[in-house]
Amino acid sequence: MARWQRVAVIGAGVAGLTAARELLLHGHSVVIFERGDRLGGTWVYDSRTESDPIGQDPSRNIVHGSLYRSLRTNLPRQIMGFLDYPFPGPERSYGDPRTFPSHEEVLAFIEHFARDSGLGDSVRLGAQVLRVAQPGPEGDWVVEWRDLASGSVATETFGAVVVCTGHTTQPRLPDVPGIERWRGKQIHSHNYRIAETFKDQIVVIIGKGTSGIDISLEISTVAKEVHISSRSEDNVIKLDSRSNIWLHPTIKCISEDGSVIFRDGTPLTADVILYCTGYEYQFPFLEAGKLISVNDNCVGPLYKHVFHPLWAPWLSFVGITNKAIPFLLIELQSKWVASVLSGGAKLPGKEEMVASVEETYSFMGKSGVPKRHAHALYPYQPEYKDWLAAEIGLAPLDDWRDQMYLSAVEGILSHDDAYRDSWDDDFWREKIESASQRARS
Ligand code: FAD
Repeated sequence: MARWQRVAVIGAGVAGLTAARELLLHGHSVVIFERGDRLGGTWVYDSRTESDPIGQDPSRNIVHGSLYRSLRTNLPRQIMGFLDYPFPGPERSYGDPRTFPSHEEVLAFIEHFARDSGLGDSVRLGAQVLRVAQPGPEGDWVVEWRDLASGSVATETFGAVVVCTGHTTQPRLPDVPGIERWRGKQIHSHNYRIAETFKDQIVVIIGKGTSGIDISLEISTVAKEVHISSRSEDNVIKLDSRSNIWLHPTIKCISEDGSVIFRDGTPLTADVILYCTGYEYQFPFLEAGKLISVNDNCVGPLYKHVFHPLWAPWLSFVGITNKAIPFLLIELQSKWVASVLSGGAKLPGKEEMVASVEETYSFMGKSGVPKRHAHALYPYQPEYKDWLAAEIGLAPLDDWRDQMYLSAVEGILSHDDAYRDSWDDDFWREKIESASQRARS
């Protein structure tokens, strides 16, 4: 029996549970360490917020989840399941049959997935990994963890470690010149839960990604004015779909009198700055940065976003990619990790992996892609997904998923949350059916 068959999986969100399931299917024994008291990671709604609303004080209480109370998925349920464990259709829903269901529906799905995959015995809840040390001469990885109920700390050895700790907990803030002059409130979307807090206020939202757009629409129902500042605008634009939302360029500075000055010179006196500026990757337990480096949100070196060339295949990361279909990518990456660890899929040599990572960085440099987008798969998702599928012996997946994803992104960018309820279910049903017929024939 291969010596790496005892694997530590860190985190019991979608990535950890999926990785564990694939590892078990390949005959490995698995311990899933989860610091929370429930499975599901991000999808466990937590009404608590952090003592520092912008999440910069290292001594604050850390809340893992970033969901807001009303959150509905931004992707349709058909692409929120797994290839061999699909998200149930509306007729078998867990209570919310909508195509873009609430977060409760997703959590129920994840819980059923974990139960049906027999993961119960592998999970340790309330188990926070404190340190993963470089392997000793025997090649064993030492995992130091704390039982949060008793406070006791223990160490255990494993043949391999799969890191699945997510990347939507540590707020990332932009540089706003003169922010020390700001007299209003500041909050990061990580600590946003309900719109009522912004009643009658003038709110500046920085960032026009998924959360920025979604939250702006919700807040606009109670706030006096909502102003979204982003890199994509050069001038002020009034949004057609709402009477009180404006789009602005980035913020030039906060002026002496505390008002916001946008890059086009427009001033604004506001009550709150709400940062929807994304998150930082963090791996505090990986020997204080010795095992992996994070440079402007580029985690490296990682071969194909998963394996560390130096420590492969014993140290891997699942769920690092973004701007893609999370569940599908997580599943393919998990199958790849499990297959490589079992000696099925083969990795190239270290030099080749390092060269591949360098080639990616050089391509990014030449194409003007900033480092912080190193793990953003748009527009490379189809290619990456087919590459992963080939590594694990699957035929290329039909492209309806990519098309559906792009269609949902278009809906998000329309700045009108009606896209969720006006989704053309019949059109997609037919598309999926003809794809499965093609696959069968
Ligand atoms: P997480 O779900 O974050 O899980 C990581 C787990 O690791 C957590 O349980 C955490 O407690 C645990 N952990 C961390 N550190 C330690 C440690 N040291 N020791 C032990 N345990 C640890 N995706 C979609 O597909 N559709 C959507 O509509 C969608 N909407 C989203 C909306 C918001 C606001 C956010 C933030 C994300 C959304 N996502 C969506 C993306 C979502 O993050 C992924 O779908 C997926 O849940 C990520 O899973 P994960 O396991 O990688 O990370």
